[in-house]
Amino acid sequence: MKRKSTKHIPQRTCLGCRQVKPKRELIRLVHTPDGKIEIDTTGKKSGRGAYLCPAWDCWEAGLKGNRLEYALRCHIGQEERAELRKQAEELLQGA
Ligand SMILES: [Zn+2]
Repeated sequence: MKRKSTKHIPQRTCLGCRQVKPKRELIRLVHTPDGKIEIDTTGKKSGRGAYLCPAWDCWEAGLKGNRLEYALRCHIGQEERAELRKQAEELLQGA
């Protein structure tokens, strides 16, 4: 039987697969105050955040359609989307 203390672990939902996971297992995307969408590898940037698993399938699902826009409450242009996709590819490759 587990006797771990029930310390609160922040949980977030992945936009791609909709699974709830501990925050630190997910990659954060942030809508910065200056209106950009960035991948926040530190998890400390300010702004509205959205989360995705470090799995390409989730990124594909998240970047497709308007899930990310909906989560971040902003418009994401084609260029920005392509840029995020590129960054994600690099990030996931290095993982
Ligand atoms: Zn996922």
